[in-house]
Amino acid sequence: MKYRPLSLPRVPVGQQLTANLLADPVTPTAASLTATPVGYPSLLRRARFVQGGAHFAYVSPLPIPFPYDFPAPESSDANTTLGEHQKREIEAEAQQQSELDEAQRQEQTHKNAVRRMDQIESSLRGYEVQVPRAGARVNAVPPRRTDTTYPSARVVAFSPECHAHCLPHLAVGDVHKWIQQTSGDAGPYAYSSGPVADALAGGIASLFGETPGSDADARRAFSDWAAGRAVPLHVTAEQIDEASGAGVQFFQEADANAGWKQAAQENPARFSSEVAARRADPQRAYGPYALRYGGHQFGEWAGQLGDGRAVTLVEALDPASQRRWEVQLKGAGRTPFSRFGDGLATLKSSLREFLASEYMAALGIPTSRALAVTQFPDLPVARETVTSAAVAMRLAPSWLRIGNFEIHASKGEWESVRLLGEFVAHDLLRLDGVVKTGAEVAASTAAPHAAPWAERLVREVARRNARTCALWQAYGFMHGVLNTDNIALLGDTIDYGPYGFMDVFDEEQVCNHSDVLGRYSYKLQPTMVLFAIDKLLEALGPVIGFELLHDRAPQPGELLAADDKERAAWADHATEACADSIRAELQQTLLDAWSAAWCARLGVASRGAEVDKEELIDPLTEVLAGLDMTRAMRYLCRFPTASASPEAFAQAWVAHARHGNGAASDKDTAVHVEAARAWLVRYASWLDAAETSAADIVSAMRQKNPAFTLRNWITDEVAERLEGHNDTATVERVRKLCSYPFEDLSADDARYGEVGTLLRGHLPSCSS
Ligand code: AMP
Ligand code: MG
Repeated sequence: MKYRPLSLPRVPVGQQLTANLLADPVTPTAASLTATPVGYPSLLRRARFVQGGAHFAYVSPLPIPFPYDFPAPESSDANTTLGEHQKREIEAEAQQQSELDEAQRQEQTHKNAVRRMDQIESSLRGYEVQVPRAGARVNAVPPRRTDTTYPSARVVAFSPECHAHCLPHLAVGDVHKWIQQTSGDAGPYAYSSGPVADALAGGIASLFGETPGSDADARRAFSDWAAGRAVPLHVTAEQIDEASGAGVQFFQEADANAGWKQAAQENPARFSSEVAARRADPQRAYGPYALRYGGHQFGEWAGQLGDGRAVTLVEALDPASQRRWEVQLKGAGRTPFSRFGDGLATLKSSLREFLASEYMAALGIPTSRALAVTQFPDLPVARETVTSAAVAMRLAPSWLRIGNFEIHASKGEWESVRLLGEFVAHDLLRLDGVVKTGAEVAASTAAPHAAPWAERLVREVARRNARTCALWQAYGFMHGVLNTDNIALLGDTIDYGPYGFMDVFDEEQVCNHSDVLGRYSYKLQPTMVLFAIDKLLEALGPVIGFELLHDRAPQPGELLAADDKERAAWADHATEACADSIRAELQQTLLDAWSAAWCARLGVASRGAEVDKEELIDPLTEVLAGLDMTRAMRYLCRFPTASASPEAFAQAWVAHARHGNGAASDKDTAVHVEAARAWLVRYASWLDAAETSAADIVSAMRQKNPAFTLRNWITDEVAERLEGHNDTATVERVRKLCSYPFEDLSADDARYGEVGTLLRGHLPSCSS
């Protein structure tokens, strides 16, 4: 059974993030998105501190240029924008006003400003989700998004592997074939959806129905969804009526947040009952949202960050595997968390995220996935230069990060911490015995025994991230921005920005141009994961301390009712009781996983992580320094069955992987070869102890040592060819290499495997 994007099955309501957590009070339900009050549609797009202890804000994708500008009113000339039109008006008004006195002038200026604001607001409103007719279940395409000024979309990359792995039940039509057919000269006018494509295809794609019609039809529907034009919103007319106006009231009250805190204190069960009621309502309104989180950036607390350019469309459930996938668009336009940003992403950064996600998955490193990249050829985005914008459609079981706990703890939103913790522990990590408090618990006077979850949660997050980081180290992956808002609770690698894969092995390497101090260098990644786990422990400290003292989870209101001194005492207790052991466990997990990964790459059995490290891996990394890591390790796969002497092999090995002009290393070649030889002799003795045949070792090693790595110059080249020549064929070619990195490179692809260089020069920076 195949489903169209907008009818994709969702996780059961009881396990949905949006049912379990608190929404931004300005848009309290998904129905609020269709009920934006006339004066305030921009509230969805305006940067603000989201209050009310909210975990997320409902918001729909809106990839349009920012600062916003719109078509001018019909009265003006055809080619002006609203901005230009207003500018002319202002000039004209200034002249007219010369005859007025000061009071009159002020009054008129104010009136005109309000009128112009209304013009902008109502233009924006035209792009927001609106239900076209009463009773419609889902709004497909907001009316103004069919306007020719709305950017049309062009799907330029698609991962059949991600499709098969995550959402095999999603109808995508012939999108993969279409991308290949529209490469190069066939590309410039090949829009996959949006106003231009509609004009060519004779109408908006049909978005509903569980069995797709034609392949082309399904492809257009997929493109509409992947471009953020068609918004999956499940609401009824009654839900819209109820939502109408509710949020603005909160916004207009100056001290609404103080009121919220007081309400939480006076009636602690309130939020739990609300959440419990939502969990029990299968007809609940459902819609897209952005997460609210904070984070430590480069070691400093940065306050509220949040999804400033990512919108989660749906928490999808694969009916066959029962796995959850939060489907997200990155680069989908402004949200309340956009701060000063435009909410957009460049084509290059979207492609980089897409390729890296799929490559990491193929290497077996926990990671978010990427299904597609959709370009907006006519939507410019300004960074160092102006290029076209694109969105990446990315998937993860959860996009919650360490920063999600941090924001609530930092603001004293202890009910939010508790609700988030229960959801993560119960529904995502599935820890034993966790009880999500709800109506029934809140109503009972005797506090029932609910198993503590906070310490177990921190330990599990630490273990998962330790294992992931171990694989980064063993495969030479550098994340580039390991801020606490970029570290996923579930341990997946997320937020691919200025990442790099090691070319020439160098432990000091820094891949993020903005990281002048080298905080996120390759070598320091484990330390930075440790730092992040410390921050999680700090955020949850009071809960852990409470649980240790009471031997049960806190009930609604209990954390909030305590005073700062009491919470600080709980936190101290937590630090004393478990900080050291959590750190030690993290480090041991990291070491064990790291040595296991290296042993697997080397085809040998572990002799205990410490021994492996000291006797085999550390000496190997000394040899690797100055060599192309991928080439060296792939070449090493020949060693177990090689007939050459260690001397001869070492010579060939170093020659194969060493940077040609020697600039990459100051090591003398002869010294390098001798070190390699010495290590090979030692390695041979480990191999001798193996119980499997040399041939079997070689074939196992070839599945652990990729022939292909995603070098920086490759992503640069793919992006440049796409931007400049509509070359989707190269994207597809590199994507395939990413998905099957353990296959030998064909003669045609040999250049992708040539010896790399030290990462210097054109490094990517944060958030492009
Ligand atoms: P990053 O370093 O890319 O993980 O981003 C840090 C924060 O900045 C996150 O809250 C992002 O959502 C936000 N951000 C990055 N780029 C943009 C953008 N172009 N527009 C709005 N917010 C952004
Ligand atoms: Mg981020």
